[in-house]
Amino acid sequence: MLKVKNLIKRYQNGNEILYALNSVSLMIEDGDFVVILGPSGSGKSTLLNAISGLEQPDSGSITYDDYEICGLNQRELTKFRRDKTAYIFQAYYLLPFLNVESNIRMGADLNGNKNITEIIENIGLHGLEKRLPHELSGGQQQRVSIARALAKKPDILFCDEPTGALDEETSKQILTYLKHLQKQLQFTIVMVTHNTSIAQIATKVIKMTSGKIAEEIINDNPRNIKEITW
Ligand code: ADP
Ligand code: MG
Repeated sequence: MLKVKNLIKRYQNGNEILYALNSVSLMIEDGDFVVILGPSGSGKSTLLNAISGLEQPDSGSITYDDYEICGLNQRELTKFRRDKTAYIFQAYYLLPFLNVESNIRMGADLNGNKNITEIIENIGLHGLEKRLPHELSGGQQQRVSIARALAKKPDILFCDEPTGALDEETSKQILTYLKHLQKQLQFTIVMVTHNTSIAQIATKVIKMTSGKIAEEIINDNPRNIKEITW
């Protein structure tokens, strides 16, 4: 479980201080599919980066299974990120000169996972192992980045606008794979998006405005991806 309390992150903006996170508290249970919604600039990415250990907040507390993450030194933070977390972003950040298999293996090597065949099958990349990223469509590249993230067997997968660059059909495919893999591998998903439709498939929705949580919704009956349109 991830517990966040009174998180504050400020940026100096000329003479003004901007509160990117203005006392944010929330709880994420194991196995949740959390969607963080909000307009551009509302602090979604800042929140994701803080709770995933990418960026240190100015104050507040983040505990992961009673382990305090705020105030860890760089080495301890790196260990936390390597052992527990994985990320996918809107820009896929694949290594351009490595083929599909080698890109995925990079993730797997981080945690000594030798078997990437199954994840390649499950995410529908079988047959494309030897291709280079530029020989793939956007949706296929995002699947490689998801496979790379999941190959290291994270407890929590953090996603920042993972379908932001994809059309509706491809986005739904990606979300279907994510849901399927979540069921199979049992990890937690925390996803930032400004697509309100995606919120319908989440178990918890957090709406942000101006660095604060404006609303938190528990969704007892998440919908099937096939049923939603945007
Ligand atoms: P979102 O992801 O919801 O679009 P962000 O978390 O990226 O929003 O940003 C929240 C606010 O913090 C914005 O006003 C943004 O301009 C500001 N901000 C984010 N990162 C920085 C930074 N490194 N330096 C200064 N201001 C920043
Ligand atoms: Mg953002």
